[in-house]
Amino acid sequence: MSENINVLPKLPYSYEALEPYIDKKTMETHHTKHHQGYLDKFLKAIEGTELKKLNVNVILKDLSVVPEKLKTSIINNGGGFSNHNFFWDILTPNSTKEPEQNLKEKIEIEFSSFEKFKEEFKEKALTLFGSGWVWLALNKENKLEIIQTKNQDSPLSIGLKPLLTIDLWEHAYYLNYQNKRAEYIDNFWNIINWKQAEYLFNLYTK
Ligand code: MN
Repeated sequence: MSENINVLPKLPYSYEALEPYIDKKTMETHHTKHHQGYLDKFLKAIEGTELKKLNVNVILKDLSVVPEKLKTSIINNGGGFSNHNFFWDILTPNSTKEPEQNLKEKIEIEFSSFEKFKEEFKEKALTLFGSGWVWLALNKENKLEIIQTKNQDSPLSIGLKPLLTIDLWEHAYYLNYQNKRAEYIDNFWNIINWKQAEYLFNLYTK
């Protein structure tokens, strides 16, 4: 299998593309320092092991294949690598600002409206203590869930299929927003790639 199986992806837009909602400096540091850092440490952890042949998401979906002494590093650094891979694709400078077709319908059925869904998502994002992520994901029964994950824990490790996420580590917003996490969350709705979320939803439910 290719040795480039786990590589830093290019962003699908420029560093300044998400301004004014996320500034260029934050995006650049986030991608070239934080994301790269997780990848480097992850690659170091799996160096010389059988895990090197596997894509990070495959490993995170089944942590039982990971030797005990590597577990913490894989969860933290493999998780950090994978979560950010997902995150860049769920953002776009050309957001439609609303979910599309099938996911839209599903959100309206399960949360009663898009507005109610946004309220609940924001509440989960505001109440996450410390560093972590909030996700919209499909569970094993193909129902939607909004969940918090701590640190760089991956939703893949608890059997969820992620559709959308917000990075709630301070490194994701501090330069622009400092302690104003609520403002960052409110602005997040302007840059969501609902086409990608719809694509994933259809992929998981077909
Ligand atoms: Mn981050």
